[in-house]
Amino acid sequence: MMGVSRRGFLANSALLALYGAASRPASAASASLPWRNWSGGQVAYPAGRIEPATETELIDFLASSQGPIRPVGSGHSFTGLVPTDGQLIVIDRLNGLLDYDSDTLEATFAAGARLGDTGSALEAVGQAMFNLPDIDRQTLAGATATATHGTGLEFFNLSGYITGLRLVTSTGSVLDLDAEHQPDVFDAARVSLGALGIVTRIRMRNRTPYRLKQRSWIMPIDEVMEQFEDLAGSHRHFEIFPLTHSDYAIALATDETTDAINNPEPSPEEAAAFDEAMASFAQVPPEQRKPLVNGLAQQIEPSERVDVSYRVLTNIRNNRFNEMEYSVPRESGAECLREVLATIEEKKIDVVFPLEYRYVKGDDLWLSMSTGDEDHAAISIHRTAAEDYRTYFNTIEPIFWKYAGRPHWGKLHSLGRAELTRLYPRFEEFLAVRKELDPQGRLLNDHLRFLFGEMGSG
Ligand SMILES: Cc1cc2nc3c(=O)[nH]c(=O)nc-3n(C[C@H](O)[C@H](O)[C@H](O)COP(=O)(O)OP(=O)(O)OC[C@H]3O[C@@H](n4cnc5c(N)ncnc54)[C@H](O)[C@@H]3O)c2cc1C
Repeated sequence: MMGVSRRGFLANSALLALYGAASRPASAASASLPWRNWSGGQVAYPAGRIEPATETELIDFLASSQGPIRPVGSGHSFTGLVPTDGQLIVIDRLNGLLDYDSDTLEATFAAGARLGDTGSALEAVGQAMFNLPDIDRQTLAGATATATHGTGLEFFNLSGYITGLRLVTSTGSVLDLDAEHQPDVFDAARVSLGALGIVTRIRMRNRTPYRLKQRSWIMPIDEVMEQFEDLAGSHRHFEIFPLTHSDYAIALATDETTDAINNPEPSPEEAAAFDEAMASFAQVPPEQRKPLVNGLAQQIEPSERVDVSYRVLTNIRNNRFNEMEYSVPRESGAECLREVLATIEEKKIDVVFPLEYRYVKGDDLWLSMSTGDEDHAAISIHRTAAEDYRTYFNTIEPIFWKYAGRPHWGKLHSLGRAELTRLYPRFEEFLAVRKELDPQGRLLNDHLRFLFGEMGSG
């Protein structure tokens, strides 16, 4: 069998071949068009969709209407943040670069801009974002509402770079927030879960454009965990994708470079070779799978690519999946990850999807998963969309709790107000700001009511 690259391994269609097409929940009878998130795990039947072409249109709608509303970005959250039977507020038409400052290296985007559209727009004005998450399909408003992050000890999640934003409240009031204007509301609104109002524009701190070289290779998991601190400290970005029922992880190191651009597309032949191998593993019980996965892992060839920052930092993920991610204090990260991997093996959990393990810098945003002085280790587990994720996720989630893990707001978890108040020192203050800005609870849905312990309101 030919060698396979890490990009092929993570992005190709093998898992889809293993488990069939992504699930499509049965549609219920409804007069309205159904809404589904990216994974298909969340479905809603909103009464309607409001798609304002201008901020004024949005303000007029909010000031003149009543009833439940929920803002939606590109629907890439796995949790029930968006579903509503009221009006979905879609701000796709509010996009594009609005303003920039070449001295402070700040830029303001309309908040419906997709991350994938910001790279070239910023490059054209001599700027680039410091970091990006794994994909670039999210809107700026949606990504920052859940503290979406990339990897790297020197880098905040995306919300950590916001220097100002415009929030239109559920009654149509306009708040221009920054460190000087209502700083507390600003700190709450930088990671808002879409619970404070509709964000229509976001100003971010950037840097000058840069090029990155990304290398990936396979490493024994014990070895990479021993060296993780050194590797994370010596590369601009370093992360691993531990393979389940295996002794190996895929390592990914990314650094600034001035080398020439060389970013070949992953080869379809590699994907096919991988598909073939993985399809045969599906027939084998998990406890007998290790030699096979190890054998395949050893054939994964190192790869390298060079491109402008925003093309290297993000990927295309074709296989639909559901995900749980918790951020644990960095010093507990390795132990927590080892326990998760050992549990998958001991309990013979039938999962082939790799985990993801990465560091994020500590910050001072009220609802950031990395809030506080410590850096955090984000640990993700995945299940293809066609499978029932509940048994797997329910088995692993208590391990994250043991290590004081904070759940990613956009990824599946089961925590409510009592636990969240313990994990987030400013959680109750956030709830107070929420009540002040949206006293009628127009922005609440079932998921938010559960998170906020407000089951009776709205
Ligand atoms: C394939 C995949 C890869 C991912 N990779 C990463 C990753 O590397 N790192 C990471 O941290 N996360 C990652 N995520 C999670 C994802 O980044 C977050 O869930 C993000 O919030 C999704 O953004 P969205 O634009 O799709 O927003 P949605 O999921 O549509 O909405 C998210 C939240 O934003 C709110 N919102 C949307 N628009 C507005 C607005 N205008 N005003 C106020 N609130 C608003 C919504 O109400 C909701 O609460 C990934 C998800 C997927 C599916």
